[in-house]
Amino acid sequence: MRNEDLIARSRAALWHPCTQMKQLEDLPPLPIARGEGPWLIDYAGRRYLDAISSWWVNLFGHANPRINAALVDQLHRIEHVILAGCTHAPVVELSERLARLTGLGHAFYGSDGASAVEIALKMSYHYWRNCGRPEKTGFVSLRGGYHGETLGALSVTDVALFKDTYAPLLRITHQVMSPDARAAEAGETAEDVARRAATDLAAYLERHADTTAALILEPLVQGAAGFAMYHPLYLRLARELCDRHGVHLIADEIAVGFGRTGTMFACEQAPAVTPSPALPPRGGGTRVADIADFVCLSKGITGGYLPLAAVLTREAIYAAFYDDATARGFLHSHSYTGNPLACRAALAVLDIFEQDDVLAANRARAARMTELLEPVARHPRVAHFRHTGMIWAFDVIDAPLAFVRDFHRRALDLGVFLRPIGHTVYFMPPYVIGEEEMQRLAEVTLSLLDRF
Ligand SMILES: *Cc1c(COP(=O)(O)O)cnc(C)c1O
Repeated sequence: MRNEDLIARSRAALWHPCTQMKQLEDLPPLPIARGEGPWLIDYAGRRYLDAISSWWVNLFGHANPRINAALVDQLHRIEHVILAGCTHAPVVELSERLARLTGLGHAFYGSDGASAVEIALKMSYHYWRNCGRPEKTGFVSLRGGYHGETLGALSVTDVALFKDTYAPLLRITHQVMSPDARAAEAGETAEDVARRAATDLAAYLERHADTTAALILEPLVQGAAGFAMYHPLYLRLARELCDRHGVHLIADEIAVGFGRTGTMFACEQAPAVTPSPALPPRGGGTRVADIADFVCLSKGITGGYLPLAAVLTREAIYAAFYDDATARGFLHSHSYTGNPLACRAALAVLDIFEQDDVLAANRARAARMTELLEPVARHPRVAHFRHTGMIWAFDVIDAPLAFVRDFHRRALDLGVFLRPIGHTVYFMPPYVIGEEEMQRLAEVTLSLLDRF
């Protein structure tokens, strides 16, 4: 196979995602023959560092021997079976382990992130309906939030480029102030911004809680809108407001779950109680269940191997569906729900987290990466250099019009795969990135900044 042949056939036979196909005339897709750890390799043997984990899904590198072995073993047992009326060991074990990790339970499976969001939105509304509150049909989300691109998920998303065209097809939802730390005014800390954003949410809920089913948010990092990062206090304040007003909180951990922000799940970084000057700070010990009524998981869940999504919720919410009446049940399904191969990949991922103490190893890795990126952070063209766990991002000052494509293309020429968003460059490497690769990433970025 030659790179050129595959590019021509791909353009003729496919419709690539999130792509104006005409632009492929100028910037063809990268033909990938194989992968090796954090590297993607084309048919001519050229290697590219996958610095964005193949759209944030890969955790432990490409062609990971341990995940491969789990999948091969599962292939000899059962590849797929309908989950309505059947069950199997991988899905049961995965559900039990996810419940232990989050404090929520009754995992409901979908295929990809957007399907998890649809499930959570429908479940939240259906819960209120089952409780005699059918008027609670509204959803509130954060400005700049991203929750996927099916019609329901897009309705709670706030990214104009993806949403405006389809606005006539969508449900009207409400967006409140994002706690994005970049919004700090002179003298304000990230924590102050979190408090200010919570005030905006409070004002909305005071007026509309009666018709609102849920708040949906991306904990700590708003990815697709340009990697806004915010203070974890916001999660605690949002939880308290949702409690006070009888509104669900849906934590969309699709991008940030599975160690991305430094803890297994981003919600765990929320303070256990609202800090008050009178009380000593109490950190740690927060579980997803202390913040969220529903958690949506996908992307990294299978280490980037197979599409799988899960929504976990509270026992009390589950109980409101448990009844003799069929229609009170959650009659939602996807054909590949709980696919055994995908569940086995997910179990292998959880094994790696445990066996290799990945969160601790990532703390050291992240500290080193941040150190290597110091010259980037200090570069005169860089604003708002920010970092959470295994995610780094910065905004480029006076980015030229074609910045996204030019930066992407020039990085490729230097053997690094990056996809800036607007004027924001971000790194979200697999957790197997090594010292030399981190150095390469930092050097390439610095040299590119000098050329814009
Ligand atoms: C990617 C993403 C989704 C959608 O997931 P898909 O698998 O692309 O449908 C939803 N929410 C967040 C926060 C995401 O990053």
